[in-house]
Amino acid sequence: MTLNLRIAIIGQSNFAADVLELLLERRNVEVVGVFTIPDKGSREDILATTASLHRIPVFKFASWRRKGIALPEVLEQYKSVGATLNVLPYCSQFIPMEVIDGAPLGSICYHPSILPRHRGASAISWTLIEGDEVAGFSIFWADDGLDTGPLLLQKQTVLEPTDTLDSIYKRFLYPEGIKSMGVAVDMVAAGTAPKIAQTEVGATYDPAMFKVENQMLNLQQPAANIWNFVRGLDSVPGAIATVIEQDGTEQQVRLFGAHLYSAGAPKAGRALRLKGLDKPAWVHEGGLLIEGTDGQFVNVRRLKRGAKMINASDWFKLEQVQQLQDFSEDELAKRELLSNIWQAILKLPIESNTDFFAAGAGSMDVVRLVEECKDAFDVPLENEHVFMAPVFEEFFVELVRALRQGSAGGAQQVSFEGFTLRANKREIPVPTQLFYGGEFVDAKNKQTLDIINPTDEQLLCKVACASKEDVDEAVKAAHTAFHGAWKQVSARQRGQLMLKLADLMEQHKEELATIESVDSGAVYTLALKTHIGMSIDAWRYFAGWCDKIQGNTIPVNPARPNNVLTFTRKEPIGVCGLITPWNYPLMMLSWKMAACIAAGNTCVIKPAQTCPLTALKFAELTVKAGFPPGVINVVPGMGSQAGQAVADHELVRKLGFTGSTPVGKHIMRSCANSNLKKCSLELGGKSPLIIFADCDLDKAIKHGMSSVFFNKGENCIAAGRLFVEDRIHDEFVRRVLKDLRTMTIGDPLNRSTAHGPQNHKAHFDKLLEFCDRGVQEGATLVYGGCRVPNLKGYFFTPTVFTNVEDHMFIAQEESFGPIMIISKFNGSDIDSVMQRANRTEYGLASGVFTKDISKALGFADRIEAGTVFINVYNKTDVAAPFGGFKQSGYGKDLGQEALNEYLKTKCVTIEY
Ligand code: NAP
Repeated sequence: MTLNLRIAIIGQSNFAADVLELLLERRNVEVVGVFTIPDKGSREDILATTASLHRIPVFKFASWRRKGIALPEVLEQYKSVGATLNVLPYCSQFIPMEVIDGAPLGSICYHPSILPRHRGASAISWTLIEGDEVAGFSIFWADDGLDTGPLLLQKQTVLEPTDTLDSIYKRFLYPEGIKSMGVAVDMVAAGTAPKIAQTEVGATYDPAMFKVENQMLNLQQPAANIWNFVRGLDSVPGAIATVIEQDGTEQQVRLFGAHLYSAGAPKAGRALRLKGLDKPAWVHEGGLLIEGTDGQFVNVRRLKRGAKMINASDWFKLEQVQQLQDFSEDELAKRELLSNIWQAILKLPIESNTDFFAAGAGSMDVVRLVEECKDAFDVPLENEHVFMAPVFEEFFVELVRALRQGSAGGAQQVSFEGFTLRANKREIPVPTQLFYGGEFVDAKNKQTLDIINPTDEQLLCKVACASKEDVDEAVKAAHTAFHGAWKQVSARQRGQLMLKLADLMEQHKEELATIESVDSGAVYTLALKTHIGMSIDAWRYFAGWCDKIQGNTIPVNPARPNNVLTFTRKEPIGVCGLITPWNYPLMMLSWKMAACIAAGNTCVIKPAQTCPLTALKFAELTVKAGFPPGVINVVPGMGSQAGQAVADHELVRKLGFTGSTPVGKHIMRSCANSNLKKCSLELGGKSPLIIFADCDLDKAIKHGMSSVFFNKGENCIAAGRLFVEDRIHDEFVRRVLKDLRTMTIGDPLNRSTAHGPQNHKAHFDKLLEFCDRGVQEGATLVYGGCRVPNLKGYFFTPTVFTNVEDHMFIAQEESFGPIMIISKFNGSDIDSVMQRANRTEYGLASGVFTKDISKALGFADRIEAGTVFINVYNKTDVAAPFGGFKQSGYGKDLGQEALNEYLKTKCVTIEY
């Protein structure tokens, strides 16, 4: 027989309200009164509201007793409802025994642990903190003890590693608890409810975690215990740790989103001191890594500082932002308005850590946000601002930055220490610090490089010289950007950023060409057209590729009766190291970096130590273009230190190198020994140029001159050897000498100058030695071979050697200077000259002049070189692949092929 029950519900909150709703569905149950807590301000507890809706009498008592004695007026009201059973679903008040025993059937109570374990007010937290394997709840008969009454019903579930206080409550304790309260009431009505006495075996009574002193995280324990403590208080109230700032001040933070971190010691990040922890914790792109006493790690994803929740990975970023920020009242008022705009779009209350996309925004919402901001604030924002700063606080900072810069196109500024280059009727501010993580900084050990102007041999400036530690910081910044901000930027936006950068380079091209000319000795007009012009072209060309990088679908053999879909994805490699030489400083940077960035990587470049200035000016422009910090990092320094550190770094996954063959070989070994990083090598050359008697001689002389003397011979594809058919040899030499005598040598900034100083002293001295050696071996020095008389600076006279034999040093080795090496050949023996042309370990470029198309194409077939010029020389283009054979290296710069150097292919197979 089933009893009809008159139930008094004593409790509060959604849980109690849901139990009430559930009981109201039962025919044999009448809820005769609801006893709950008083309103907080004007806010009534949901149990009271729900009861009122169902016209159930509601009683709101601040307290049921005073000095341990039940309040008579409260008792009277309770008795007035005539309950036969008290149901306590969730009750924070102390209920007197007169009430507990006041109903004939007694009182049943819900408790969120498997009693007798974890008696007390914080049972769920303790279930997690103690590392229990199961969680559960008990419905028991209330008695005069605390959670000690006889048991009626219990249920349990296995705890998952992802469980927190919130999740276990939401997924099990709440929904199953409500159902079970219904079951318990049914059992009481049916007279089948047991009363199983609790044993004291395994009983615990745990402290309440609402006391702040109990929320302090003990860091002197194994990682698993740290993790359990944090998740046991996640999300309310949050475990507390104390950060010790660099100036020694302390601030408390609450920790959320912890998990055991199996990837081991941090590979990249910034140290953060936590009180009570011997070793530093690490802020990295995935959060905050804390090492337990057992050497294992816990990762914490979110931190709450004051009222503000932030991603732990943003700890230093927000700190910087805060330091930057001194918001005016007007700006703070705009923050309110901005918050309203976000709220209207997202239809959510906006917190400082609200993420636009995580809150469900789509691409139309991005447009709406940008347009509303433009309208409300009259500020030049673009869609990328939202993608790069999707969190409310970050976006607000971007907005303020844009507002402060007014209508200057929203270009960001970066401060640096540097010098003012006064040249070419200009005053050009040039940074002289390292650039990483979006900032210009000094080298950690304060070392500097002397930058010498090759035109007057005077000190131009001193530039910070990166140490291994600086490179490490730069690589970590690139690593963080690769896994963070850069990932948020879509391929098309990447292209737009690159185009913006190219436009800025264009706007600053005279400045860049002036710096290049002063720093490297390049003739200004050539610097403008080639060094800078082709750099801009490279950025524009590769910008176009960004959103066209795609894989294939591949018809593989299906496993019948199923089908199979196989496709490939082209993915960026990660952090790429770039190491470049001094002959075309900005152009070498751009050839490599534009492809690298277009492919979606981040990079650290070590430019040549003798002329790093355009790379640093370029770094400034990347900030103005809006590249997120860490995507592009520039670390001038010495090859043996900074360059080596890049090649050795285990977070660098690809190395793009341009330089000499011996250093290239060394680099390749370093790539293999460190982490087997992918590498591409653009190395030295000794490119043959064959001039047949049937050529257009005027053209052959013009291009033959430029094949050697272009950019003062500091040109990797320079023709290192000219084979001139014996029938035209003497005329060719005579006319070359005539042109040389009229060549204007002097200040590279002078517009009429054709030949400037060599790049630096060591190189200049090597050229002198090279010529001495040629003379000693018996070649005929017909012109030059010496310093330009009466000129200060590294001016080397354009030089011509004839009667050069194949065995001679100057016939085999690269000079990298303005030295023409001429040998004769007999036009009737093409095989022989082809063999001589190929008898070199280099294979970078080559050229032929002839009007005979068969001869020309025969040459192209047989020559062992990555680049072949026919009736032209030095004709490179950003769309055409460029790179060597044999010991001139492998891997291509430029053209579509260059992208593959900076991509990896992933093959995905699905059976369906
Ligand atoms: P390099 O001596 O090989 O130096 C090239 C770069 O490597 C420089 O930044 C250099 O730093 C750095 N480096 C030196 N030792 C290193 C190490 N142990 N680890 C990592 N990096 C290191 O060549 P270069 O004299 O500057 O340039 C001339 C050579 O480059 C010529 O052989 C030329 O043919 C070749 N090149 C080839 C191409 C091509 O596309 N194939 C294009 C241009 C030039 P420092 O600045 O401190 O020396």
